[in-house]
Amino acid sequence: MEPEHRVLLLNATYEPLAVLSGRRALKLLFHNKAHVVEQSNKVMSTVKVRLKLPSVIQAEYFIRRPYKKPKFSKKAVFLRDNYSCQYCGKSVHKPTLDHILPRCRGGVNSWTNVVTACHACNNKKGNKIPKEAGMKLLSSPEEPRFLIYTEISTPGNYEKWRKYFDAYSGAQPQEEFASARA
Ligand SMILES: [Zn+2]
Repeated sequence: MEPEHRVLLLNATYEPLAVLSGRRALKLLFHNKAHVVEQSNKVMSTVKVRLKLPSVIQAEYFIRRPYKKPKFSKKAVFLRDNYSCQYCGKSVHKPTLDHILPRCRGGVNSWTNVVTACHACNNKKGNKIPKEAGMKLLSSPEEPRFLIYTEISTPGNYEKWRKYFDAYSGAQPQEEFASARA
């Protein structure tokens, strides 16, 4: 069975806010609480109608929400690191988690102590810290900026929506997206 269609909800400020089901996204559109930013090629069929499902929608009004810490998970670490080894930079299909300070030496499961690594680098590093193993991290790991890292079900979705994350992180000018909507 195909995985359920997911829709990215952007805040009025373009901040990626949440990942919704197609049904919930359509509800927001029908009630004029959001508009479509990007369509998908998916269709939802009911007895009476066939509805085109969006891929990305944006809230009409600013949605205020309390800050919540993103939940730490293996999959979220892989997504944060874009499924690429943080030592050699290779993109890895079946990545492993590497504890920068190894667990046997007191290293914990945390956003700042865990990175994505390929098998070769993970083996090479073993129970050493990077310096001892003569290895260097390509970037220092941080807690992800977006809560929804933990909600995106597949790396495919992440790739598809990556420009929205990058745009909000300031990597690209936001005007590009404002004009893309017109
Ligand atoms: Zn590697």
